[in-house]
Amino acid sequence: MGPLSSFSVVSLFLLSVSLFFGVCLPARTAPAEKQTQTITIGVEEINARWGDQFQRLIDAELGKEVTGFAELKKYLNRFGYIRPIPGTNFTDVFDDRLVSAVRKYQSNFGLPVTGRLDSHTISSINTPRCGVSDTPSAGPLHTTRRYQFFQGQPRWTRSTLTYSFSPTNSIDYLDPSDVQNAFRRAFSRWAAVIPVTFMETPYYLSADIKIGFYRGDHGDGEPFDGVLGVLAHAFSPENGRFHLDAAETWALDLGTEKSKSAIDLESVATHEIGHVLGLAHTPVKEAIMYASLSPRIKKVDLTVDDVNGAQFLYGSNPNFNRSSLAASDTSNASVYTVAVGRILLGLLMLILVRAT
Ligand SMILES: [Zn+2]
Ligand SMILES: [Zn+2]
Repeated sequence: MGPLSSFSVVSLFLLSVSLFFGVCLPARTAPAEKQTQTITIGVEEINARWGDQFQRLIDAELGKEVTGFAELKKYLNRFGYIRPIPGTNFTDVFDDRLVSAVRKYQSNFGLPVTGRLDSHTISSINTPRCGVSDTPSAGPLHTTRRYQFFQGQPRWTRSTLTYSFSPTNSIDYLDPSDVQNAFRRAFSRWAAVIPVTFMETPYYLSADIKIGFYRGDHGDGEPFDGVLGVLAHAFSPENGRFHLDAAETWALDLGTEKSKSAIDLESVATHEIGHVLGLAHTPVKEAIMYASLSPRIKKVDLTVDDVNGAQFLYGSNPNFNRSSLAASDTSNASVYTVAVGRILLGLLMLILVRAT
């Protein structure tokens, strides 16, 4: 090995290293703000409202009577999965009707459809969620899992929709201009994919979309339940009512709001706007229109499933670029790029060392 070839190996090594850091690392760091923030929180911390009473039902056997099944049936009834037999109350027995409801629930939440109350199913039930009922499909459980609509597929017929914040039903610990900015960003994500424009107006009473924070029973038959549990709800087109549970610890920045039960306002806003537009819940876990959202999670990017649903109702915004969506949907691609880069670099080094 002459001095020149040693030099070549060293310079090629340095070149490879600089290429690695110069090319691969930005590919890994660039989409970071697009990635969903994931912080693991124990089920018991997530939800004091539903958590304790359902936890003991894990892996219960069919036919068993356990305190808590009646409450679970009420929960599943609340979201559209089971009806009481007329003239009777729900019992604490794990019966066939409950199995059928659990299967529908699992199908709607993208879980393995077993009819059993495994820990994943109970954990999903314990997670805070949107108050809008789910739409269990009557058909076979293995139909294509994707975006859903409200019955009759209602949609807005106008292409410009105004929105306004209730002057009285607000929360005082958030800066109103920060709240406005969070909603502006949430509306703009949907406006980017469909030919609909959203405009904020100070005229609350005449606005198409009326946004407010409410506590408990607030007159629309869908009372809020306090901290966690149900977080918000919105009505299908062309109703426009958009309500958030004032009892939540709403956060505009999870970096500064340290509460374990903090709920990201922009994430919930983006989800509820989907309902305002006519989308129902999807079984696609990563999608904005998935029904549940854990505390301290920021999830604001529309997925292919969300976009397909919205565009089915409204058509595509002529300026929408589908490739921008693909980039955000495949955040793992950058990790893959780094891995392939490392393997190629290793092979290159091996060849060079062998050659010299
Ligand atoms: Zn919802
Ligand atoms: Zn309401």
